[in-house]
Amino acid sequence: MDSTDRQFSAGDALFGAERSPLGILNRVYGYPAFRGKQQQVVEHVVAGGDAVVLFPTGAGKSVCFQIPALCRDGIGIVVSPLIALMRDQVEAMKQLGIRAAALNSALTREEFIDVRRALSAGKLDLLYVTPERILLDGFRDTIGSTKISLFAIDEAHCVSQWGHDFRPEYRELGRLAEQFPGVPRIALTATADAHTRDDIVERLALNNAKVFTTSFDRPNISYEIVERDQPRQQLLRFLSGHKGNSGIVYCLSRAKVEETAEWLNGQGIRARAYHAGMDRAMRDANQDAFLKEEELCLVATVAFGMGIDKPNVRYVAHLDLPGSVEAYYQETGRAGRDGLPSEVWMAYGMADVIQRSRMIDDGGAAEEIKRVERSKLNALLAICETASCRRQAILAHFGEAHAGGCGGCDTCLKPVETWDGTEAAIKALAAIYRTGERFGTGHVVDVLLGNVNEKTERFGHTTMPVFGAGNDLPARTWQSVFRQLLAMGLVRVDQQAFGALKLEPEARAVFKRERSVFFRKDRPVAERRSKRTAQVERRSVLSGSDGVLFEALRAERTSIARSLGVPPYVVFPDTTLIAFATERPRTHKEMLEISGVGQSKLERYGDAFLEVILGHDD
Ligand code: ADP
Ligand code: ZN
Repeated sequence: MDSTDRQFSAGDALFGAERSPLGILNRVYGYPAFRGKQQQVVEHVVAGGDAVVLFPTGAGKSVCFQIPALCRDGIGIVVSPLIALMRDQVEAMKQLGIRAAALNSALTREEFIDVRRALSAGKLDLLYVTPERILLDGFRDTIGSTKISLFAIDEAHCVSQWGHDFRPEYRELGRLAEQFPGVPRIALTATADAHTRDDIVERLALNNAKVFTTSFDRPNISYEIVERDQPRQQLLRFLSGHKGNSGIVYCLSRAKVEETAEWLNGQGIRARAYHAGMDRAMRDANQDAFLKEEELCLVATVAFGMGIDKPNVRYVAHLDLPGSVEAYYQETGRAGRDGLPSEVWMAYGMADVIQRSRMIDDGGAAEEIKRVERSKLNALLAICETASCRRQAILAHFGEAHAGGCGGCDTCLKPVETWDGTEAAIKALAAIYRTGERFGTGHVVDVLLGNVNEKTERFGHTTMPVFGAGNDLPARTWQSVFRQLLAMGLVRVDQQAFGALKLEPEARAVFKRERSVFFRKDRPVAERRSKRTAQVERRSVLSGSDGVLFEALRAERTSIARSLGVPPYVVFPDTTLIAFATERPRTHKEMLEISGVGQSKLERYGDAFLEVILGHDD
């Protein structure tokens, strides 16, 4: 066969002669129907249009570029930021019978030559490349005369300095528009904020692209935010509801990551660490273990997570406050990509606010940027301290209306009471003001409580009228009052003044009794300890013989995945195994009816799983 002739012989049988998007979705992916706006995106790109796709994690962005690449003539180029994850991405494609390869600096010379040969022979459907590589002059030579069907720019928020994963190389990708005129480009991200979206459009020269968005709600994720008192014990209690599950625990510092991972192992929870300061081989090995194993807790800094495709991350815990709602949404969003119930949890306290404020102030950014960072932090604090639905508050931050009462967050499941705190607020603000806006929370609380100690005496605070004015409330309540005043933007933490509390102009209205203030009532410690907000369905949710079969199917999947050296979800996701266990297909035809079973996977694994199912007949 002529080497320039695309070899569709294998592909034609698989994709169907006419390569319709729905036909490919059914036969290759084994999904019965498009979801949400997938079909609109696919049709737009197949017709040659540019697109910006802003869907939350788990919505199914992948098929939005993969199917057009298969429908259109030529090879689809996928720009993906992380070499460490490309192998799995390519492997997942191959399992579907799609001819995919990666081109990056991790390839050996021989592998590189193989990819080039496959390219010029027209034997590839998709090629994954890093942004650096695609911008190299040599890339054009490598591509040669191969026709390009489209460019997909994954994790497109990396172009934005505003966002959390800024990658300077991404900015250069705008040049693709001039270098490859007429080739459709599709940029995809799960980042929801308007600023990042505008950056994507501008930086990638996608002004004429159609923008597709959907709701950013993640209904399968339940939210819980608790006041930190004994973080390790609190974490342990949270994790006790996740036996057999995989999840991520985020910590702010590298040292804390390592200590926490070690401590968890000592508590009988299998944990591994991940942070940017680790030896690269060790870090990659831990990431790989997380992807491939079924029951592992990965303790990580925010360096971990982007591009992680693992669909069954069942929980995400934060031991420290993230810097913004965007970061919180992104990090928690790594849970539950497969749509199955997942839990996210955070423990936070005043110390976080001080620490985050310090990071902003010491960050060396321009004053204007610091101001933005502070307001981002306050927006997150407001979500932490809200007495109403957290989901509603999170979505409101992204400009999306939600009626509240979601039933899947701690404030909905166990409504918090509020109290009229106007008098307390006035006392708190007065204590800050009277002591000269020079002290942190600890000292101001001492003044309110009337605690005589070295510091209150040295500064002459014991003789002030506010001294002891707040001894009707316990210290814990005052701590909570100050957190909430911060969250309401009535007070701020000034790092230049060593974490002193300062009044914001808005506080004036409270002083003048023009504005009343309601506070969230913190839960009694004992109650917080015993409760579980949501019962997350774990795999044991399949009870009786279905549960037994599910375990057997999982064992089969593990052994297949091990022999191939791929993560288990590349073989089949949990959702497909659950359907096998409950529907119990008995023939190839019945298997194809199950979502996630396409032609290629049926041929590869159908018999192995059928055997397990038939062996469990009862
Ligand atoms: P995203 O990249 O938006 O986070 P993915 O492309 O990884 O989402 O898809 C999330 C999950 O949903 C995957 O397990 C995928 O196989 C599944 N999925 C995507 N589209 C469909 C569909 N039309 N029908 C059924 N499952 C789908
Ligand atoms: Zn809610």
